[in-house]
Amino acid sequence: MSTYTIAGGGIAGASIGYHLAKAGHTVTLYDRADTGQATAASAGIICPWVSQKRNKNWYRLVTAGARYYPEFVETIEAETGVSTGYKREGALCLFKDDVVLEKGFNRIHSKKENAPEMGEVYKVQREDVKKMHPHLTDLYPGVYVEGGGQIEGANLLKALKAGFLHHGGQWINQDFEHKKAEGLLIYASGAWAIEQGYQPEIRHQRSEVFHFEVEEAVKTADTPVVMALGPIYLVELGTNKYAIGTTHVETESFSAEPSQENYEYLKGLAQRYFPDSQIRDINMMVGLKPFARDYMPYIGYVEKNVFVANGLGSTGLTASPVLGREVAKFLNGEETELNFDDYSYL
Ligand SMILES: Cc1cc2nc3c(=O)[nH]c(=O)nc-3n(C[C@H](O)[C@H](O)[C@H](O)COP(=O)(O)OP(=O)(O)OC[C@H]3O[C@@H](n4cnc5c(N)ncnc54)[C@H](O)[C@@H]3O)c2cc1C
Repeated sequence: MSTYTIAGGGIAGASIGYHLAKAGHTVTLYDRADTGQATAASAGIICPWVSQKRNKNWYRLVTAGARYYPEFVETIEAETGVSTGYKREGALCLFKDDVVLEKGFNRIHSKKENAPEMGEVYKVQREDVKKMHPHLTDLYPGVYVEGGGQIEGANLLKALKAGFLHHGGQWINQDFEHKKAEGLLIYASGAWAIEQGYQPEIRHQRSEVFHFEVEEAVKTADTPVVMALGPIYLVELGTNKYAIGTTHVETESFSAEPSQENYEYLKGLAQRYFPDSQIRDINMMVGLKPFARDYMPYIGYVEKNVFVANGLGSTGLTASPVLGREVAKFLNGEETELNFDDYSYL
């Protein structure tokens, strides 16, 4: 068995740590829970098949991630007793008119052949939208994807930490310094990777999400994730509670203070998508999304004894469980489903 040190306990580091500890290795993880941690702020949508992004290596990673989720969640919840909040109520992707709907339906439906876990995929006409989601505007038709799901990032992290400790890992809530490394060092330090200075350069986007409550007699629970127009999405956080996101700004700042401008923008959008609802603020969440070259994750060695898993961008919650499983196998010299040459492109 080998010794590993991990720097960073967001979803990427925690998942790698969990899978390595479970395989019997000696693993120490350092995390300093920076304000702006992407995992804590994330919306948790697990629905990679509807994306228009065309990179095949990225698609292979995130679809493997979505496929692994049900088995992974069942195992970790049974091992730890911690609920991850994973649910699969499907995803409803809205389109601005019937012409775009037709194109969108054909594009999404064609993915089914290689991804049976998508389940049923069908069009939802405007007049049927409210049957699926009573608060949502009926201005737009949509495509429903049965296999779409949702996870609570902060709870998944709690479960991973509990699983990691359960398998003998040591979790230290401290800043990591290179001199503390024992064995192979794995950096999963998200937006803060700039402190280590390895290539590829990791930059970050500041993303904000507005959490709100709907004050109405109609109670909704178990509504599908809504992929609205453009980059906008809506996810349910509990009965009549929702989050709408997201804003993206590339920045060098590490501030995680919400901005008034984005609050007003997102609240306006919430009102537009839920036109008949009284909306009450809960809070704004701010996360720093790490990304690398071409918005592709980097997973591989950067030096003989230093491995990096970073740049997970907008889909790190989807990718990370399978990424942890695959990195643990790769470092163990076992056969992997993913080809790591695709992600270590330096
Ligand atoms: C608003 C928002 C919405 C999102 N929505 C989705 C979604 O719907 N679906 C999806 O799949 N993904 C989503 N994502 C993306 C996903 O959240 C990220 O890709 C993922 O969380 C990145 O995980 P990470 O572990 O790389 O980074 P982080 O979660 O940021 O974790 C990095 C950790 O490393 C620690 N660290 C850094 N340096 C050190 C050091 N020197 N010593 C100790 N600790 C250190 C930090 O404190 C932090 O805890 C969203 C992200 C945001 C911000």
